[in-house]
Amino acid sequence: SGAVDWARIRADFPLLTRQVHGKPLVYLDSANTGQKPAAVIEAVDDFYRQHNANVSRAVHALGSEATEAYEGARRKLARFLNVRSDELVLCSGTTFAINLVAYSWALPRLQPGDAIVLTRMEHHANIVPWQLVAERTGAVLKVANLDERGDLDLEHLYSLLTPEVKLLAFTHVSNVLGTVNPVREICRQARKRGITTLVDGSQAAPHLALDVAALGCDFYALTGHKMAGPTGTGVLWARPEHLKAMPPFLGGGEMIREVSFEGTVFNDAPHKFEAGTPNIAGFVGLGAAVDYLGAIGMDNIAAREQALLDYATAALEKVPGVRIFGKAREKAAVISFLVEGAHAHDLATLLDLEGVAVRSGHHCAHPLMHHFGVPATCRASFAFYNTFEEIDVFVAALGKVRNLLA
Ligand code: PMP
Repeated sequence: SGAVDWARIRADFPLLTRQVHGKPLVYLDSANTGQKPAAVIEAVDDFYRQHNANVSRAVHALGSEATEAYEGARRKLARFLNVRSDELVLCSGTTFAINLVAYSWALPRLQPGDAIVLTRMEHHANIVPWQLVAERTGAVLKVANLDERGDLDLEHLYSLLTPEVKLLAFTHVSNVLGTVNPVREICRQARKRGITTLVDGSQAAPHLALDVAALGCDFYALTGHKMAGPTGTGVLWARPEHLKAMPPFLGGGEMIREVSFEGTVFNDAPHKFEAGTPNIAGFVGLGAAVDYLGAIGMDNIAAREQALLDYATAALEKVPGVRIFGKAREKAAVISFLVEGAHAHDLATLLDLEGVAVRSGHHCAHPLMHHFGVPATCRASFAFYNTFEEIDVFVAALGKVRNLLA
């Protein structure tokens, strides 16, 4: 990553020049949502100033410009993920993408006696939809354990993959521990047993070079706002045979070919899953975001973030009383931690007064908190636009805060 001018990259992010509480902002909450480069903000602005119209409905010039911009974003996303663009359903985010699979793929298929396997490190977005499906179908949920480091217990996971299991849904990267799961190998094991796989890619897409086609999963879900794109954008990739077989989830305009009161002929996938006016400007922004990330290079981004993670981990380990949660073999740039004798929210509140933004709470992962026996943690998460100096500020602030609380 020596070739990338990271100071110039950072200058692309207008918000990062802000102050909070009279201190320069140190934004360490990118796992929650990422900041946006000017290129993304300007793409959204330009769409509304120059091209705004609805997609697919109008023959006038703006209508085709808007349609081209929206479909162009789909093609950019497809290239970024190394899949075909007609295999990508554009939606509002990972939560929607997983619910689409839950309602459209799982609900019609699952029966009493069937099982869904999850892991203990899932975000609520990859737990609650399956609980709702289980309740309505009579299927049961089974949960794979983690070890002390925060890696999946693969032996336990594979032991759960018995013939009644119809779906294995698991995260690519943990939003709390940073654990990077061996997706290819897990999908291979599931596929051997005829089990369909869904991977939650929310925390992987912003940090890793992705080749979704090579992962061997059936469904891959991700959210745009964590990867430099606007909120309210997301993608579901699915194998074409699933998209073909799945009935529509929401009905409305855009998703039909012909409607009469006798019946409706649906559009082909992915359009049959995109009812109503989509977040056109949002996807224009997300298209600009993947252009931006692609120009830096995801391998450069991954290397930069790994260097920030290593630096921050070493510095935090020197602060007395700090406990770090999650030491996975392969880890993304996320550090969950606590300080002995201090509550997570108090830590985060005092860090905020120093200008340092970290998240505190359960991170939408109650079962994982139970695994570690704590109600909440603080989480510092890093992106390529963060600096080593910011980590120094964070660690110094934590030392100061610790003296106040401990
Ligand atoms: N899964 C994981 C692992 C996440 O980190 C998040 C976002 N915190 C989600 C799912 C949900 O994403 P969204 O809220 O954008 O739908």
